[in-house]
Amino acid sequence: MPLTAAGFAAELAPLESTDPIVQAVANNIRTAVKDSGVEHEIPGLKIYFPDFSKAKSDATTMASYTKGCQSILPSIVVVNAHFLLDTEAAIRSFGLYDELFKTPYLRNDACMFGLVKRVREDGNQWLQKLREFEQEKKSKQRNEIDELTLTILFFCAHEIGHLKDGVDGGQFVALLNKAAPFENRSANAAVKVRRHASEFEAYGFDLPGWKGAVDPQHEVFAATEKLRLKVKEEDEENADWFKKEISADNAAVKFMIHYLKDQAPMRRSLLIRGLFAASLYAWYDDFLTFCEAMNVPRMGTKPMLSFELMRDPEIYIRAASLFGDVHRCTILRSTLAIQEVLNADVNDGPKTKASDTFLDRVSALWSNLFGQDEAEKDESNQSWKVQSARRHLLLAIHMDTVVKLAYVGASMPWMKEKEEQRGTPQLMMIEYESIDQSVNRLKRMLGIK
Ligand SMILES: [Zn+2]
Repeated sequence: MPLTAAGFAAELAPLESTDPIVQAVANNIRTAVKDSGVEHEIPGLKIYFPDFSKAKSDATTMASYTKGCQSILPSIVVVNAHFLLDTEAAIRSFGLYDELFKTPYLRNDACMFGLVKRVREDGNQWLQKLREFEQEKKSKQRNEIDELTLTILFFCAHEIGHLKDGVDGGQFVALLNKAAPFENRSANAAVKVRRHASEFEAYGFDLPGWKGAVDPQHEVFAATEKLRLKVKEEDEENADWFKKEISADNAAVKFMIHYLKDQAPMRRSLLIRGLFAASLYAWYDDFLTFCEAMNVPRMGTKPMLSFELMRDPEIYIRAASLFGDVHRCTILRSTLAIQEVLNADVNDGPKTKASDTFLDRVSALWSNLFGQDEAEKDESNQSWKVQSARRHLLLAIHMDTVVKLAYVGASMPWMKEKEEQRGTPQLMMIEYESIDQSVNRLKRMLGIK
């Protein structure tokens, strides 16, 4: 029998995390949600932060279990405390460096993987150390848990969005499940990544030379469409879910805009820092799981993904798993959320053409925001904007790998057809950008050596 709200409360309340930071963040979030008045729409709304390791039996079998966050109808949001602590570790690790270009994790992909491994293997100790560091630093400008609160609040607002839409079990984070097999059905994989590629295109992320993948008039699109008809039912279900995810994200952005509306503009920088660290970390976490499972070498300064994908294009099918089941890409949603929260600050919006790329739009938005206080010339204000703009732009630039995986993956059925006609395999080398390449691209863009 499915649990009632009281049943869930009896299950979750005793598991509530006793970690002081989790408790502090939980209090902040409950207050923010209460103040928002959303409870009028969702009576009895409850947000739990369980430490599932306290469960008496296998927690993963519990109906309320989630690796990240989830919504349970009609009025429950669950945030796994372990997920919150991992996010805290990521945010604090990046938070040690105010100046983006001095962040050691961005030196290369191996450093990013190193951070993920450290949190995975030595999470508690690393987190304690980070908390102590921050204690000593005691920056006046920011409350040490603000970034974390704002980031987790965004995730919760997404789940609240699901509840408003009447969607059950909407899990926010598309965490890769090591135990579950990777996608191995080429039809599902191609259709899924095409859905992502189409979304990327709509937001202005395109891949020159690969547009056929998302153009219904093109033969590349047609080849994938043939496969889609074989998995039509599942595809329609997934497409429907995808829409629910977008709707919940929109609700989350609206919530954050409303929440930040009357706060100092500088508070937006804390949300940006939090989302930046959390989403870059989440992407590399999934990426590492994927590389480990697929035996893609990742030692050295550059990932070998480019070579591995050339050697074995079948990996593209597995790579579809990086996109989760129905979720949108984490880096994309963070980038979009930042964009929209800032848009709300700019009266008439950035002046861009519909044909501009996403990166153009992000640049225009920031120049507009800088332009606004030319009269003020407030130094600390300029500094948060400079650092926030760099983080936002870097996320948009680093979409590169995700965009390439989606477009190329969506073109695989067509390439297979061509290979069969020709009788010889197609050798294809796509250059996947590592984090240092993205950082260098950003520096060139800003004219920084
Ligand atoms: Zn969701």
